Amino acid sequence: MKGKFKSTLSKVEKKVQKTFNEFIRLRDIIKTEDGSLIAKCISCNKTWLLNTPSDWKNYHASHYFLENKYQSVRYDEVNVNGACSYCNRFLHGNLAEYEIGLVKKVGIDRVEHLKIRRNFLEKYDMIELEELNNLYLEKIKVQKLRLGIK
Ligand SMILES: [Zn+2]
Repeated sequence: MKGKFKSTLSKVEKKVQKTFNEFIRLRDIIKTEDGSLIAKCISCNKTWLLNTPSDWKNYHASHYFLENKYQSVRYDEVNVNGACSYCNRFLHGNLAEYEIGLVKKVGIDRVEHLKIRRNFLEKYDMIELEELNNLYLEKIKVQKLRLGIK
C-alpha cells in the first residue's frame, strides 16, 4: 500500500513539475513590438526566435538547484528559469553563468534568499500538489494571453 501511494505521489509531482516548467518557459519569453516571441537563456544570454517546433524544443526550464536534490525549491519561481538546451543539458545548467544571470535578473538578495530556502525541508502532500498544479495552469493561461498563443 505504501509503495503504491508513493508511486502515485511521484506521478503527481511529475505532473506539477511539467505544468510549472511550462509556466516558467512562457514567463521568460520576451514579446517584441511586432509580436515575435524570443527565448533567452539565463546562463549564456543567448536569444533566439521561437518559430519552429525545434526552437521550442531547445528552450528549457532550467533549475539552479537541482529538483531531485533540493525538493523545497523544486517549484520555486526564482530557482527555475528559461535556458537553452545546450546550457541546461550539456553544461548541466552552466551554473557559474547561471548565477550571474540570476543575480542580474532578480537581484543578489533574492538569490541569497534562495540559497537559504533550498535547505528548508518542504514536502508537499497530494492536495497541496494538486493546488499547485491548478495555480500554475491558471498562470499559464495568463502568460498565453500575454504572448498571444494558444
Ligand atoms: Zn545557454
